[in-house]
Amino acid sequence: MIEWKETMTESFEMVVGLEVHVQLATKTKLFCACSNDGFGAPPNSRVCPVCTGQPGALPVLNKKAVELAFKAALALNGKLAHKSIFARKNYFYPDLPKAYQISQYDEPFCLGGEVPLRLKDGKTKIVELARIHMEEDAGKLLHAIGSQALNYSLVDFNRGGVPLIEIVSKPEIFSSDEAYAYLNSLKEILQYAGVSNCDMEKGEMRCDANISLRPKGSKKLGTRAEIKNLNSFKNVKDALEYEFLRQADVLSSGGKIIQETRLWNGKETVSMRSKEEAHDYRYFPDPDLVPIDITPEWSEKIKSEIPELPQARRERFVSDYHLSPYEAEVLVSDRVISDYFIQVLKSSEAQNDAEVLAKLIMNIPDFTPIAPEQMASLVALCRQKTITINQAKELYPEILESKKDPKILVEEKGLAQVLDEKILRNWVQEALASNPKAILDIKGGKKQAAGALVGAVMKLSKGKANPALVNKLIFEGIDKA
Ligand SMILES: [Zn+2]
Repeated sequence: MIEWKETMTESFEMVVGLEVHVQLATKTKLFCACSNDGFGAPPNSRVCPVCTGQPGALPVLNKKAVELAFKAALALNGKLAHKSIFARKNYFYPDLPKAYQISQYDEPFCLGGEVPLRLKDGKTKIVELARIHMEEDAGKLLHAIGSQALNYSLVDFNRGGVPLIEIVSKPEIFSSDEAYAYLNSLKEILQYAGVSNCDMEKGEMRCDANISLRPKGSKKLGTRAEIKNLNSFKNVKDALEYEFLRQADVLSSGGKIIQETRLWNGKETVSMRSKEEAHDYRYFPDPDLVPIDITPEWSEKIKSEIPELPQARRERFVSDYHLSPYEAEVLVSDRVISDYFIQVLKSSEAQNDAEVLAKLIMNIPDFTPIAPEQMASLVALCRQKTITINQAKELYPEILESKKDPKILVEEKGLAQVLDEKILRNWVQEALASNPKAILDIKGGKKQAAGALVGAVMKLSKGKANPALVNKLIFEGIDKA
């Protein structure tokens, strides 16, 4: 383990560029009709002559994949090219049956773009993208069956030919926290745009990181290392923090960083191959695929299909629904929840229900939605002060289970709060009569003594009196006494 020294963070700054692979949410693969749902399916059950590279098989481009890729680019403010071509990236590896991967090289479909970051201290920052390109995924090697290690390897081609986009950022990320915020924001935008589910556990979003160090204040880029195999946001953060220490340690003892590929093993980064051993991919245009002609009409059509994105929705939740920025942040971070939020408000009659609804959703542990109409009815009960938000929260599991109308359930359980001042006044009189000391205390200026009286009324009402009203009536009662 490398020892952290104060001087390291004082002297150096990390410069990071991220390359993120995202699996497009299509029904079929990029160049064949095989189903794109191979995760967890029996090995080699989603294969055909095209995606296993049989002689004579020809690729046919999936239009839906192209449109999802365009959608990603436009949602990220990227610029679509007029023309884009596929290239062959040549290398030999057992998970690549054609011995080349169909990718894009010097004519990707998108240049530029940006990812807005929301940082912990409330600040924002834009990280610019270098490019986005399309490519097919490779297969997967298996070195064990269950816990049984093999002395040979098996290949599963279910993932081979699955459509991916690679999103390449400029080296504008300067800390592990910024890298984390970048991935979070990217994931949200792609999920909202419907481009990908970005489920990292299924490998639908994978990340490689380029990291170099430079003396603080310097603008010159140092020699970088590429870290592979980062399959969670936490891995990215941990790997960058480790690699910062490693490179700072080398540099501060007068050493040089070698340009190389390193692998994160969960604890440290280890050298995989140096630049000298790097592949020469001999890219050339794929003669089996025609160039994509991207017309302005096509681009406009895709653009019009992009739904409201997270940033716009956050702002709208604050301006239209009067939620706090924190509430908007929490609700919008999950597209399913924020869609539900909007749907419930459609079936509710009062505008200010938004605030009650936000409090309910955020206060119910492991929130699982009930039917929007049911939720609107529950919110209305809180708005009319028939029940408190706390009671609604306690009632929620039962509504979820029984699917009963909350209004009926509240009646059945006798939960409704008593708001009738005539009934409340009787209880208040009873409480005042049996607590003469509290009256004297309040008259003597000790207003907090009213707490005991409210408590007495709550006891008399079996918890159903509305505490705010009771409090008001107690002071009225004392004034008259
Ligand atoms: Zn296939």
